[in-house]
Amino acid sequence: MELRKDPITRSWVITGDDVPDSAPREESFCRFCPDSPAPAQVISNMSGLDGGPWSARAVVHPTPLYRIEGEPSRRADGIYDRMSSVGAHEVLVESLRHDRQLWTATDAEIEQFLLLAAQRIQDLKRDARFKYVSIFKNHGANAGQEFGHPTSQLTATTFVPRRVLYELRAGREYFKAKERCVFCDILSQELQQNQRVLEVQGDFIALCPYAPRVPYETWIIPRSHEVAFERYGLARPASMLDLAALLRRTLQRIRTVTGEFHLVLHTSPNTLFQSKSLDYWKTLDDDYHWHIEILPVIGGRAKSYTFKEVYYSPVTSEAAVKRLREAKIDG
Ligand SMILES: [Zn+2]
Ligand SMILES: [Zn+2]
Ligand SMILES: [Zn+2]
Repeated sequence: MELRKDPITRSWVITGDDVPDSAPREESFCRFCPDSPAPAQVISNMSGLDGGPWSARAVVHPTPLYRIEGEPSRRADGIYDRMSSVGAHEVLVESLRHDRQLWTATDAEIEQFLLLAAQRIQDLKRDARFKYVSIFKNHGANAGQEFGHPTSQLTATTFVPRRVLYELRAGREYFKAKERCVFCDILSQELQQNQRVLEVQGDFIALCPYAPRVPYETWIIPRSHEVAFERYGLARPASMLDLAALLRRTLQRIRTVTGEFHLVLHTSPNTLFQSKSLDYWKTLDDDYHWHIEILPVIGGRAKSYTFKEVYYSPVTSEAAVKRLREAKIDG
């Protein structure tokens, strides 16, 4: 596997003919359950709740896309750039229990998973090679789910993924023009208009974005301006219980429409180490704002949505929020 940069959009792609088999494997056991006969290699554990051995844990991905050893060794290839696929690829096991999902777990259990995510990001950002740490969850066959056990995944990469890069550039432009954070401005208008706000819990707001990429797209954003999820979560651990409750309830709502979704956390790139090539780092603390995006997968449109030239959503965010607000959930 290697990384190649698109010279036009300046975004990196991972490519290679030695792609690991990511299709769900038919195994007679689960490698993430506590009593697994072939357990994955543990990186860190969150302490157990109610006497359990652990509550959430990070393990090495059994078929990683990125390898932790070595240097990225970025090099030119004529006008192009390439580098080796150095990085980290972990599985974040959300629960000890095989049947406990983010929408059926207790808030205390989900809080442990969120704190694990924050700790892993902070830990990996100490590595100067890594420019960004992504956390995402693909749930459902059409969303690319890999494992039966409730899990999310983490990648630490030597580059910033393209969607985040677009957001960082846009945030910087907006701040340059207005000296305000675009996310804070979105939040204040959404709260004032109250047409696309799904729910408010503590410092967190769930909303359907004005221009959705897919039907029922939902974001969860903290009201307090903070660029980095991990800094927010570790400095205010009590707030993670609110985020847990809102995440659980939002996923319950989305599941009344579809059981399949992508979830991704967008946080700041690694700012512990200076980067010569990226000049948006100077105002980053002011112009970016961490958030979670949930992209439901509906019917056959699923696989192609990332390839569309223009996103098309047959449901407006105003209609989506109405249906999700009225959805019957467990509480
Ligand atoms: Zn399991
Ligand atoms: Zn902000
Ligand atoms: Zn985002």
